[in-house]
Amino acid sequence: MAKFVYDFTEGNKDLKDLLGGKGANLAEMTNLGLPVPPGFTITTEACRHYLAHGDLPEGLNDEIDAHLAALEERMGRRLGQADDPLLVSVRSGAKFSMPGMMDTVLNIGLNDESVHGLAKQAGGNERFAWDSYRRLIQMFGKTVLGVEGFEEALDELKGSRQDTDLTVDELRELVRTYKRLAPGFPSDPREQMRMAIMAVFDSWNSERAVLYRRQERIPADLGTAVNICSMVFGNCGDDSGTGVAFTRDPASGRQGVYGDYLSNAQGEDVVAGIRNTISLQELEELDKGAYDELMAIMATLENHYRDLCDIEFTVERGKLWMLQTRVGKRTAAAAFRIATQLVDQGLIDLDEALRRVNGDQLAQLMFPRFAKDADRKLVTKGMNASPGAAVGKAVFSSERAVELAAKGEDVILVRRETTPDDLSGMIAAKGILTSRGGKTSHAAVVARGMGKTCVCGAEELEVSISDKRFTGPDGVEVGEGDLISIDGSTGEVFLGEVPVVDSAVVEYFERGELSDELVTAVDRIMRHADSKRALGVRANADTPEDASRARRFGAEGIGLCRTEHMFLGDRRQLVEDLVLATDREERQAALDALEPLQQADFTGIFQAMEGLPVTIRLIDPPLHEFLPDIIDLSIKVAAGDATDKDRELLAAVKRLHEQNPMLGLRGVRLGLVIPGLFAMQVRAIAEAAKQVPGARAEIMIPLVGAVQELEAVREEAAKILSDAGVEALIGTMIEVPRAALTAGQIAEAAQFFSFGTNDLTQMTWGFSRDDVEAAFFSRYLELGIFGVSPFETLDRDGVGRLVRIAAEEGRKARPDLKLGICGEHGGDPDSVHFCHEVGLDYVSCSPFRIPVARLEAGRAALETGGSDTR
Ligand code: PEP
Ligand code: MG
Repeated sequence: MAKFVYDFTEGNKDLKDLLGGKGANLAEMTNLGLPVPPGFTITTEACRHYLAHGDLPEGLNDEIDAHLAALEERMGRRLGQADDPLLVSVRSGAKFSMPGMMDTVLNIGLNDESVHGLAKQAGGNERFAWDSYRRLIQMFGKTVLGVEGFEEALDELKGSRQDTDLTVDELRELVRTYKRLAPGFPSDPREQMRMAIMAVFDSWNSERAVLYRRQERIPADLGTAVNICSMVFGNCGDDSGTGVAFTRDPASGRQGVYGDYLSNAQGEDVVAGIRNTISLQELEELDKGAYDELMAIMATLENHYRDLCDIEFTVERGKLWMLQTRVGKRTAAAAFRIATQLVDQGLIDLDEALRRVNGDQLAQLMFPRFAKDADRKLVTKGMNASPGAAVGKAVFSSERAVELAAKGEDVILVRRETTPDDLSGMIAAKGILTSRGGKTSHAAVVARGMGKTCVCGAEELEVSISDKRFTGPDGVEVGEGDLISIDGSTGEVFLGEVPVVDSAVVEYFERGELSDELVTAVDRIMRHADSKRALGVRANADTPEDASRARRFGAEGIGLCRTEHMFLGDRRQLVEDLVLATDREERQAALDALEPLQQADFTGIFQAMEGLPVTIRLIDPPLHEFLPDIIDLSIKVAAGDATDKDRELLAAVKRLHEQNPMLGLRGVRLGLVIPGLFAMQVRAIAEAAKQVPGARAEIMIPLVGAVQELEAVREEAAKILSDAGVEALIGTMIEVPRAALTAGQIAEAAQFFSFGTNDLTQMTWGFSRDDVEAAFFSRYLELGIFGVSPFETLDRDGVGRLVRIAAEEGRKARPDLKLGICGEHGGDPDSVHFCHEVGLDYVSCSPFRIPVARLEAGRAALETGGSDTR
């Protein structure tokens, strides 16, 4: 029979799939002999069953009863026992951490009788017992019964006092009020537990959890585990409290513990920013014994997990308890720094350091930063919770953030503190600014996880949500819609828009300078990735400038030079002449005029690449893209102020008009229909190659669907090359499904394939690449038809299958066939891994993505057990 419940002594950290992160790590800490309150975990499998069938799996309740009985036996008291109650917490915990997104209920087991027993247990501390009771009804009411109004009732009673100032009588009164608000609150402890477990399961599908998963790309079908843990109390007086801590600074990666502590409080109070927390250093003064033990445990955890850990702990009357640990979320900069620090400490090797960073983090480090020498009006400085430079209009509610962002405006979400309900606003905003809370606050943790810029705890700011404004020092006022700039790396808040400059990491790629610890860490890991990767990395570049930058960023060649980009600007006129030519002479004259210009373009690129391969794609898009707009021309003609030339143009544009231009006269079809066009381009390539010693040209034919198309243009091109005495490979894009399916035939005529996965995705799905993302992809994402746009991350099952077929059949026909990819996917981390798995020779992407591709190619090689292959 399936086992759905595991005691903390039975699990370990590697069972996250089954026990969730929290459960697995509670078990790990228990096994390490750390002070964890006893308890047990209900598996994610039970949750998945419940979500699928709407009912708990058979046998689960009996298993829970058995584990509860064992726990009661061990603790020497029964759940909710009137004179000496055992209380438990019921806490969610999925495989991937989703901070604050799912439910938790503390103090289960209290009712009108056992509240007295709890007071007795605590040496007659009635205040503590009633405070715990009101917390139970509040959390249970809100999360299990979905009742609102508790915070308001508490605020009303409290007035301007702290919650710790409430008297026993007031707390008793509060319990009565709460019970009126939540008449469905059950007094039977086992029933409380049963309902709380179901509520935690249900919270997997709460609106905010669904939104968070989509944002973080966490699979929707994992389910959450439920942890039942015997309660320890941080709210039983000044010798008690609760805290969260990191074994290193998760924002900067700096070594040394970092955390917040709140005395006389329970877990959720810290992150909710109810009262101002104190730092761990202050805890040392308050309770040296607990502090010293905490430090020792944190050191143990770091050594054991060989990584930054974050923890939740409680001190109950001077005794320290560990309530949670996990490998902590961190900023991109901290990820690189910590990885190399751990290498230096001998805890991990460089392979492991490379596994612990990723391309998305590297891309974040390449975002621009604020110019230091610009005219900047500093308002205040808060905490640097999550780095980046964000500029936008100040907004004071999540709804407004979503509303303005939907109109394409950049906004900064300003709140006193954020709660899980602010998630949609945080996603919509460019940055988040709060006046309360530390680096462990909700805003900070969630922003860091998302890689979103965040300044938190800017305490000099008075934020008024109702007036939609904040005031700062020296009478500065910022209202809704006013522009502000926030620097998540320094914590600075500026009025207006501050200009941005290249990040230190971009400067490093550009100039190779090791300016600081972060850049040095990036350099070490990049070098290691390069030594590991099997994939080559090339650039999509059409100008000598882009080509040079790409080389500085590490490109080993150009994988796609789109020649149509060279036909724009001043040259439009020549293209117009070409299209409008009525006979061979006119056409040839236009081509002759274009040829020297093309040749100069190619010479520049060959020079920039200094002997590295350059794949030049012959012209691809429909020619009418180079002609004036049909509507503008029609209006001009209708209005009677058109010239003869305009009329001619209109006739040509009409003649070339297509219903589906992306499926029309483009790519190889153009080369076959317009005599001399491809020949001109190939001659220009050959002549340019002759002029630049060592130039390595590769000529690529776009949009081929049949080998016959390729053969027809290849013959002419090969002749031109041999007449010029130039050697160059001739190959093709694979971007039409038919080409992928007949790759074996096409390889007979092609020396290389480059997968044009933009068009291949468009044609495989039948999605117009120019329209569908705006038109309906958000609905598709909502429905879970795919987790991410197939134009962003290669669709392995469909498009990927075609790539595999083409790679295999192509190589079978021509073993030395070179294989690359030049669609946008070439710079996408997951797609790079796919390309490695399929055994492509290289990926090609835009210059700015090259470092990302290098890094991910290295990581992909580690995954498949690759060793120094280059
Ligand atoms: C492609 O289709 O993937 C490709 C690289 O070509 P383009 O984007 O220019 O159509
Ligand atoms: Mg294409």
